[in-house]
Amino acid sequence: MKNEMTLAFDSRSENEGFARVAVAAFVTQLNPTLEEVADIRTAVSEAVTNAVIHGYPDEEEVHTVVVRAVLLEDTVELWVTDEGVGIEDVKQAMEPLYTSRPELERSGMGFMFMEAFMDKVEVQSSPGVGTTVYMRKKIHRGAAGQEA
Ligand code: ATP
Ligand code: MG
Repeated sequence: MKNEMTLAFDSRSENEGFARVAVAAFVTQLNPTLEEVADIRTAVSEAVTNAVIHGYPDEEEVHTVVVRAVLLEDTVELWVTDEGVGIEDVKQAMEPLYTSRPELERSGMGFMFMEAFMDKVEVQSSPGVGTTVYMRKKIHRGAAGQEA
């Protein structure tokens, strides 16, 4: 069975926690392990933070970030989308420790975490149009509520 949800929220850093918790709650239906939930929370958090900070760098303006989640049999698929500034060079942006904002004490770890914690990460981006980060993770139905 497929089950899908979409969240659209203001590009405020306060909403990063909301998005993370909402996705984690939705994914619970697949009966993930605590570790799998933690991985997904971290990946969502990094992608949403990037949309807020990098996608919409003008803090005076409020725009919209969209998070879509699709649950398949044993897999979660996520899309985190902004209609912000976009990324000129996606390959460079995804390199470990690359950051365009060292002055904000960013460390360039976001994509590293997403790639480490999810099975697949793909970035589609166009300068001036925006960015969509696609992520996928297989759930192994381990922990809570599971019969031995
Ligand atoms: P950290 O995540 O460790 O705080 P960071 O955000 O700079 O640092 P990454 O999350 O790996 O590191 O992102 C790398 C770079 O990719 C960013 O510095 C930014 O230039 C670019 N980037 C990422 N997401 C977006 C986005 N949604 N819109 C525009 N640029 C982005
Ligand atoms: Mg980041």
